[in-house]
Amino acid sequence: MPSVCGGDLHFGEVTNPARPREVVGRFARSGRAEVELAVAAGKQAFPAWRDLGAGKRAKCMRAAAEVADGLVDDLASLLTAEVGKTLGESRGDAGGAARLLREFADLASAADRETDLSSDPASYAATDVLVRRVALGPVVVISPWNTPIHLAFNAIAPNLIAGNTVVVKPPEVAPLALTALVAALAAVLPEGVLTVVPGEGAVAGAALTSHPDIRGVFFTGGISTGREVLKSASETIKKVAMELGGNDAAVVLDSAVINEDMVRELVVGSMGCAGQICFNVKRIYVHRKHFDAFVELFVDLAGHIVVGEGTDASVDIGPLATEEGRNRAVRLIEQARAAGADVRVAGTYADSARVDEGHYVLPTIITGIAPDDELILTEQFCPVIPIIAFDSDDDAIAAANGTEFGLASSVWSTDVEHAMRVARQIESGSTFINVHRLGASVSSTPFGGVKHSGLGRTHGEYSLLSCTEEHAIVRFADPARDLPGIARWNHLRSSSSTS
Ligand code: NAD
Repeated sequence: MPSVCGGDLHFGEVTNPARPREVVGRFARSGRAEVELAVAAGKQAFPAWRDLGAGKRAKCMRAAAEVADGLVDDLASLLTAEVGKTLGESRGDAGGAARLLREFADLASAADRETDLSSDPASYAATDVLVRRVALGPVVVISPWNTPIHLAFNAIAPNLIAGNTVVVKPPEVAPLALTALVAALAAVLPEGVLTVVPGEGAVAGAALTSHPDIRGVFFTGGISTGREVLKSASETIKKVAMELGGNDAAVVLDSAVINEDMVRELVVGSMGCAGQICFNVKRIYVHRKHFDAFVELFVDLAGHIVVGEGTDASVDIGPLATEEGRNRAVRLIEQARAAGADVRVAGTYADSARVDEGHYVLPTIITGIAPDDELILTEQFCPVIPIIAFDSDDDAIAAANGTEFGLASSVWSTDVEHAMRVARQIESGSTFINVHRLGASVSSTPFGGVKHSGLGRTHGEYSLLSCTEEHAIVRFADPARDLPGIARWNHLRSSSSTS
């Protein structure tokens, strides 16, 4: 059984967003036949992988991490060619695989945990209750293009340590690096434990999420796709974990002190990865008292951002990953301008930027925008940031909570009590204080969305909750004990005892 499922395949092309005429590589457009092969392999491998025990699974994962370590540089170059981000950003993405494999290998004892509840005498006086963490079976991990490797392993690693076998569906925009990595790691794991099925979401993805032998779906992507995936998984009642889109608000309170360090954090938080991270800052609400000073400093600092090809070491942000993404960014800017907003373009192009060809957008700061503008209510996924003035904490909280999203948010102030009061009222999975970017959520922090931004939490032991089921084994010392309702049946006697 090959780890990259193949057969009578059609192929898709991946092009470089910085040089769209350059074909980076081709990927198999897998269909139902390849999906069947991968799921059958995962189903066959599952009992032995589950019964191996988490300690031995951890050993296999550490061996896989060694292989992943050796591939980081090659994968990073491939990622930059596929999605346009800088080599530094791509190295962080590719390096996530080994880091997460080791991090979850370290959680082996938690993955296999059995909890004896009979030690609670108040609740279980005459009962033994054993709660076991058990694996689900074969699962599918579906990854988006913006951070395909890190986000795939954010789900692959906890599933492997939990004892599940995993079929990976890479994104069609950037399938090459993730497919190559999974294929390499599959070769050092027992056969069928990890497979990869590249292909279209609506074909390979949908066939996996609806497959009766797949017991868990671990999806990271957009909200509308998430809805389709939920529908598809519902037919066979699968366990589903969803990391969906974000429209993160940053709220700068009147008690904040506006200075370069603070504003730089928000420039990085909104512009990093060209605005294509789920928890980039996507709307900034600033108390009117600070508004003008904040906007001037933000535009000034963003003016130093260098935009160009991701392979160029002088570049801070690369092109957008797709032509569609670039066209949408241009449309959002033009729409806001036409509605009377103030549009300020910052940053400069590096010599490496082929501006007429690549999917480039310079950092753009928009003020004076209506609260119901598309840029405010939807996820822009580009380096275009609206900054909005507010007059009271209540107004800022209502605005921050006024969308379908609830992934992350941040509150900015030197008065911690004030920041905490506001943070408690914001509807999102995470609220950061005085920071809002990659690295703010670590493995000890539960990460995920509320409202339409997701289901479940990832990171550390929180991930294990999605990757396992709890199996309660309840043993009564005396079956005739006074369980509720048993008296009703006391008249039942065997014929021999009544004669
Ligand atoms: P997308 O929803 O278009 O695609 C995500 C994945 O789903 C791809 O692999 C795609 O092939 C697959 N897919 C598409 N249709 C499918 C279907 N019908 N059935 C099964 N799979 C299907 O998202 P994208 O454009 O790749 O990624 C960007 C989105 O992901 C943004 O909204 C971003 O905020 C979100 N995201 C969220 C997180 C998070 O942790 N919450 C992290 C990264 C990205």
